[in-house]
Amino acid sequence: MQIEIVNPDNYRRAFLAYIRKGTPIHLSLKQGVPTTHYVWRTLGDDKVRPSHAANHGRLFSWANPPATGHPGEDYNCRCDWIPYIPGETEFAYHELLDELTDSPERWGDDDFFRHFFEGEGREVTLSDIGHLRAIVNQHAYYGGAESAFRQLSNQIADEARGQGSGQFSYVFDRSYDFRGVATSHGYAVVEGEFEGSVSSHRGYLEVDGSINFRFRDVFTDPFGIRDGLIGTSDPDAVSAFWRRLTDGGGTVYNITGQWRTRFRAEVALEREVSEYRVRKEN
Ligand SMILES: [Zn+2]
Repeated sequence: MQIEIVNPDNYRRAFLAYIRKGTPIHLSLKQGVPTTHYVWRTLGDDKVRPSHAANHGRLFSWANPPATGHPGEDYNCRCDWIPYIPGETEFAYHELLDELTDSPERWGDDDFFRHFFEGEGREVTLSDIGHLRAIVNQHAYYGGAESAFRQLSNQIADEARGQGSGQFSYVFDRSYDFRGVATSHGYAVVEGEFEGSVSSHRGYLEVDGSINFRFRDVFTDPFGIRDGLIGTSDPDAVSAFWRRLTDGGGTVYNITGQWRTRFRAEVALEREVSEYRVRKEN
């Protein structure tokens, strides 16, 4: 059956009035959207607030709104939704499994420098320096369609298609620009792996699993001396003597962090019709 959505906005308003006040839904609207659930959609740009970006691709019931409210309800919210029809509507989302705890003393750029000269090379975690939540959000959502959560959804969906059914894993490793969190982060690597299972039902794949994320960065060459002289800041590219000299007497240290998500998706088996696939246009 082909389902036509005559006017989803009117239907949504009517449905909310029904849920809250018991106002009956006009029959002509009901015929438009016969679903009790919907999939949340954001516009996918950088103006989407993280709490709404976290809802993207997620399944909700009209009768039981998420903490954010339904799409479009919150002040200035531009989010939208599509009706959910089991076995016909795609969805995919990541859900954080851990509380992101941050030290209340958030490092500024001067703290990165101070630790470089006084910390004797001691490793710090993102949580120690109060940056974990900001890094996770930036990695997950910044860049809209290019954000890591969207990209990983596409990559894992493609990997699942290659598997068909059973357990599988997917390993990733990429560097991202984290200067939006603090200039001192520059580019840093986020690597990790998905572990989970896929099963197929009438042209659709169900994927369920978890992802471990690991952040790693090295604070070194803060004056860009090696970068300027030899084209790289990599501390292993030079001898210990030159490293120490070009680092102005400071000591290299690592910045690390980790978090986990649950990943769930229902995607079309046929790659070409799916919203969730890696596009290789560039
Ligand atoms: Zn929104």
